[in-house]
Amino acid sequence: LAQLFRPLDLLGMVYRTLRQGAIDMRAMFDLIDTPSEVVDAPDAPALAVSGAAIRFDHVRFGYDDDRTILHGIDLDVPAGHTLAVVGSSGAGKSTLARLMFRFYDITGGRITIDGQDIAGVTQTSLRAAIGIVPQDTVLFNDTIGYNIAYGREGASQAEIEAAARGAAIHDFIASMPHGYETKVGERGLKLSGGEKQRVAIARTLLKNPPVLILDEATSALDSRTEADIQETLTRVSARRTTIVIAHRLSTVVDADQIVVLEAGRVVERGTHTDLLRREGAYAAMWSRQANEQEEAVAAE
Ligand code: ATP
Repeated sequence: LAQLFRPLDLLGMVYRTLRQGAIDMRAMFDLIDTPSEVVDAPDAPALAVSGAAIRFDHVRFGYDDDRTILHGIDLDVPAGHTLAVVGSSGAGKSTLARLMFRFYDITGGRITIDGQDIAGVTQTSLRAAIGIVPQDTVLFNDTIGYNIAYGREGASQAEIEAAARGAAIHDFIASMPHGYETKVGERGLKLSGGEKQRVAIARTLLKNPPVLILDEATSALDSRTEADIQETLTRVSARRTTIVIAHRLSTVVDADQIVVLEAGRVVERGTHTDLLRREGAYAAMWSRQANEQEEAVAAE
């Protein structure tokens, strides 16, 4: 009987892992009502990740046939590098991330990870390779330990604590009378925006994916919390190929490469220094944000 149940356990685990990715992704992108239109090819192999180099070759995409959102995007993110995507609202930043996760199929071009077209591998293997730290983390009305362990079914208490330490939230949890058994959510402890992000980071550490997608919160965290979270994220993204939908100056400055997206086209790309020197769209955006940040710090 046990042998009969083992494959069922495994199926359950795969299902929960997928569901976890899908829930965060759907929360990240308000996709709750979107049915998945994507199907695996009948004999699709699993994605085989080595370094997790990501490429977009002339990627075209529209949600509807009559409106193209991305007009031939080229991106090249070498294994372990961080790409920051900046641009005004509606430029297509989140769409890029959705396509990485293959919530939709593209209408032209190719997206590859380590040379494999993501449309040709199983969705399970693709989504298992990608971790997401969304702007708004979905928390369950359960213990904080459960909420972290949701990153990986069957994680031991020691692994959960190690992830919490990595996300710099262990001390906070340990300081509560019920520790990891503390209930969170509507009827329990309310976590701040920064603490919720740390739970998301801890989940991601448990999942340990080679590819990371970070959707930075636009909502104001105080500058100390922001700097602390940034420091944690920098550690987590080291050695992982990372795409950040970036809103914070600190992330953008440190990225290996920045692309500026405008109305579905890359209008500038380079490092922070390159782009400042160019005195174009990025330089303008940067000086505007720097002014805003100075004012915010002065007000704290
Ligand atoms: P923001 O910074 O405001 O999050 P963004 O750069 O991430 O913006 P996207 O969310 O990628 O922008 O949206 C790009 C364009 O695609 C927008 O014009 C948006 O209205 C459109 N769009 C987004 N999601 C859908 C959808 N599910 N169906 C149809 N159009 C959509």
